[in-house]
Amino acid sequence: MRVLVLDNQKQPLMPCRQARARQLLRDGKAAVFRRYPFTIILKERQGGDTQPVSLSVDPGSKTTGIALVALFQRGRVAIYGQHIVHRGQQIRDALESRRAIRRSRRNRKTRYRQPRFLNRTRPKGWLPPSLTSRVHNLETWAKRLIGSAPVTSANVETVRFDMQLIENPSIAGKEYQQGSLFGWELREYLLYRHQHICAYCHGLTRDAVLEKEHIIPKALGGSNRLANHVLSCRECNEDKGKLHPNAWVTLCEQRADKVNLMRSKNMTRIMTGYRPSLKDAAAVNATRYAIGNRIKSIISDTHFWSGGLTKKNRSEQRYLKDHWIDAACVGQNGGAVSLECNYIIVASAKGHGSRQMCRVDKYGFPRTSAKSHSIVHGFRTGDLVVANVPNGKKQGLHVGRVAVRKNGYFNVQTKNGAVQGIFYKNCRITQHSDGYNFNYGAAIPPTTHSKIRVAVSLPNF
Ligand SMILES: [Zn+2]
Repeated sequence: MRVLVLDNQKQPLMPCRQARARQLLRDGKAAVFRRYPFTIILKERQGGDTQPVSLSVDPGSKTTGIALVALFQRGRVAIYGQHIVHRGQQIRDALESRRAIRRSRRNRKTRYRQPRFLNRTRPKGWLPPSLTSRVHNLETWAKRLIGSAPVTSANVETVRFDMQLIENPSIAGKEYQQGSLFGWELREYLLYRHQHICAYCHGLTRDAVLEKEHIIPKALGGSNRLANHVLSCRECNEDKGKLHPNAWVTLCEQRADKVNLMRSKNMTRIMTGYRPSLKDAAAVNATRYAIGNRIKSIISDTHFWSGGLTKKNRSEQRYLKDHWIDAACVGQNGGAVSLECNYIIVASAKGHGSRQMCRVDKYGFPRTSAKSHSIVHGFRTGDLVVANVPNGKKQGLHVGRVAVRKNGYFNVQTKNGAVQGIFYKNCRITQHSDGYNFNYGAAIPPTTHSKIRVAVSLPNF
């Protein structure tokens, strides 16, 4: 992974290699500008040549992948990878608990209350707060990365599958008709329509491998179009083989066990034209569109792409699945991207504190005294600190996010858990709180299937 570089006017330059950054820092030609993401500022230089860099985004519900893909003469290279961990669930839980507490408080004095006049409308494009936070997270990072890298364009995955192309495969030219991209888009569509469950056995075989399946086999003249496809687990798919649906139903009825009865029942329904109803795909993609539009308002050269294309690009390059790798593979040019990241940055959204004036217990009664200053001895909760404790039980070096306490004894959330009661005089701020906690992560996800762990080299600045 490359290091972000600013010139002496704080304008972004081309990110440089780690070794180069180390050399510049050693020679005194640069200084550390920011710890996370690691950014250096050059002391002398002003301006310089840059290559086009695109910001690629794969929005997810819990984790979003971001990659900076540079276009060099030798091709496209992902030079920066990042994960953003959203806090949608936390926001939901907090609002839910506030709602419950308010309700119980109102009900304690049970005089009659007239129903409220129903005059509340939600504006068009309204999203619940948990989803809005995702949009805001992306907006924040798009702005931050524009400020520290020469970003010229953006690619955002906004839909899981391209419905237009699935319904009308002829619109995208020959390559598309012959099936390769059509197949990927169709598979994503089927996964969504069947909610990741086999259409034949409804999951009774417990086979986790799901494939797109021709209802009438191609060998018997079945077409490649959408109408002739369902989602099937591999076991059902292989069992059915090249049989005509009617023949397979007869075979299943002869076997007459639980799985086969389910298969024959479902196959009969499918043959009469039944397909699961499609849940509103627009609602599923609403947040992704909101993210895409927000990024487009910041970077005018923004393009929207589908998840089927991302998956095709990633699979053809034989990359493992990870959010930032998916991000690097988004879009038309995502099929030829080399990954040059030995680690990635994981930024977890932590919010900016609470507006509540005092904590309450589970019944809604005040539990603590009123909130006092949020800054204690110059520290604020969320600052990243290095605590060097010379002696005592907590002796050692603790690096992490600080939670301030009024008495000057802070808690530091390190990688290996919380360390409590660290005196403020032993702490040094490395980066002020900006709503995120930072960690470094392995660039290639360690595989769970094998015992081989990928060696991770983390930066040592
Ligand atoms: Zn099945």
